[in-house]
Parts: sequence; C-alpha cells; structure tokens
Amino acid sequence: MKPAPFDYCCPDSVDEAIAALAACRGDVKLMAGGQSLMPMLNFRVVRPAMIVDIRKLVELDYVREREGGGLAVGALTRHRVLETSRQVARQFPIIPDTMRHVAHLAIRNRGTIGGSLSHADPAAELPMLARLLDATIVARSLRGERRIAAADFFVAPLTTMLDDDEMVVRVDFPGVKPGTGWCFEEFSRRAGDFALAAVGVLLDVRDGVIRDARVAMMGVGDTPLRRSASEAILRGKPVSDVLVEEAAEAACDGLSPAIDLHASPAYRRHLAGVLAQRAIRSAWRRASGVPQ
Ligand SMILES: Cc1cc2nc3c(=O)[nH]c(=O)nc-3n(C[C@H](O)[C@H](O)[C@H](O)COP(=O)(O)OP(=O)(O)OC[C@H]3O[C@@H](n4cnc5c(N)ncnc54)[C@H](O)[C@@H]3O)c2cc1C
Repeated sequence: MKPAPFDYCCPDSVDEAIAALAACRGDVKLMAGGQSLMPMLNFRVVRPAMIVDIRKLVELDYVREREGGGLAVGALTRHRVLETSRQVARQFPIIPDTMRHVAHLAIRNRGTIGGSLSHADPAAELPMLARLLDATIVARSLRGERRIAAADFFVAPLTTMLDDDEMVVRVDFPGVKPGTGWCFEEFSRRAGDFALAAVGVLLDVRDGVIRDARVAMMGVGDTPLRRSASEAILRGKPVSDVLVEEAAEAACDGLSPAIDLHASPAYRRHLAGVLAQRAIRSAWRRASGVPQ
C-alpha cells in the first residue's frame, strides 16, 4: 500500500520543527529515520495531515559527556553510532552490546534514539535500556523544555507521555559506578527480529556482595519494565544458585505478556525467567572480573 496524502516540510532548526508541530495541532508526525513511521504510513495505520522531516537537524546528532558523569545523547543519534561509538562503550558497554540486536544493519544506519523511544515498541531495545539506565528524556515544545524520567515516559504500547506538540531533543544517561557488572540477554526467532523476550541486568558488587542491582525486561509487558522485587532480593547478598533462581522467579512474578502469533504468554514468561538467570550470572561474573 501507499501512504494517504500528506503535506511535508523539512525544517532547518529545532525551533522551526516545534513551531510546525504547534501549528498542526496534533494532526502531524515527526519523521526521524522513518524506519517505523514509513511502514505505519504505508499500511495507513497513521494518516497525518503533515509530516515534519527532522533529518536536517544535525544539532541533535551528538554524544557528549555530562558534567558529573554519564552521557547526553542527541535525539537524532543513529542506532549505528550507539553500537560503534567508543565513547559510549567506555561508559556503558551494555549499550553497544544491546544495539547489535536491533533489527538489521540497514535499519540501524537510519533509525534514531529519539524515534525508537518515541515509537515505544514494548519489544524495542532502546526503551528497555532507558529504563535500565534510569535515563531522562528531554522534550521541547513552544512551551519550553520538559524532562521526563524513563520510568514515567512509556505509558502503553506505542504510547508515551509526549504531548502532540513536543519533540524529543535529548536523552540523558546518568553515569554508573565503574566496574558495574552488566549483561543483556535476548531471544528472537531470527537475527534482526523483534525479541520474544529480553533482560538487562546491572550489578554493583563490592567485597563479594551485591550492593546495588537493576533488572529490566522487555517483550513481556505493555512497556519496558523494571523488576524491583527481583532487585530487592539481589541487594545485600553474595551470588549463589539459589539467589539467582529466586531473583529470576521474582522478576517473572506478575508478568502478563500479550498473546500474539509468535509465542504464548506462558512461553514468554518462561523465556524471561531463563534469560534473567543467565543475565544475572553473567553480570555477576563481569562485576567480579571473571573473563566472559
Ligand atoms: C524490519 C524492521 C525490524 C525492526 N526491528 C527492530 C528491533 O529488533 N528492535 C528495535 O528496537 N527496533 C526495531 N525496528 C524499529 C527501528 O529500530 C526504528 O528505527 C525505530 O523504532 C524508530 O526510529 P526512527 O528514527 O526510524 O523513527 P521514525 O520511524 O522516523 O519515527 C517513529 C515514531 O517516532 C516519532 N518520532 C521520531 N523522532 C521523534 C522525536 N525526536 N521526538 C518525538 N517523536 C519522534 C515519529 O513521529 C513516529 O511516530 C525495526 C524496524 C523494521 C522496519
């Protein structure tokens, strides 16, 4: 199919882009990499009167160190940059490792972080990383700038806290303690497919004890999820087989994955538990300096 007719503009600045969003009063879509929007237009899932193409906004294409640690990533930063940037890998090795699982190279060359977060697919990797890494999403409109915690940003499948006149301009990732163990585990039927389930884990381990733990999941709920019960079980303890099993079980408690053509809810829940166990063990090994 072909898209329904639409008007098109390609602004030269963020100011122009947000002015265009405000002028269209909701009947408008931003286009960044177009990797999710174009299929939705072609299938007529969306029929905006206006497309605002933001590809010329090079001012939003950057990765910068933040004062006090962490990284600020411009909304137009491509997936491929997050996958290959040494600056990103130095601070957040889990990001490049995870980005390899996003679609295919051609899509990663075009897709952007702002587009992926705003699209809010419950099985997309970047929204889950934003939850795991406690990112803040910075949005702009003619009304000013708004900072939204990733914990609040994702509301439902393909739905975020963004208002119609807001665009994501930046994502702030606060720094994590040096030496933090990390792991991302995903299962999809074929390389490049959306995940059936995936788990991300960060463990801060000192003197053989887990001081802090973060566990996030995707593909098993309406939004990317943090699993606080599992994190609480891990904190303050040394790792053991029993602990890993308990933490993985807690991570799966209360999950209600959607039914679709690809997997039953029970299968996805089981898969999430297996991946959680693997991810916790692997993050522990990294935190303890054991070669992977
Ligand atoms: C075959 C295929 C397989 C894929 N597999 C995966 C996968 O395994 N994992 C995965 O995570 N993704 C996958 N994707 C999606 C891909 O990663 C997209 O790049 C990403 O979801 C959207 O990024 P984009 O820059 O292309 O956004 P676009 O397609 O341009 O936009 C997507 C949505 O976000 C809005 N938007 C874009 N930029 C902004 C902004 N700055 N502020 C506010 N709203 C904005 C648009 O209006 C639109 O609603 C796949 C896509 C395809 C076609």
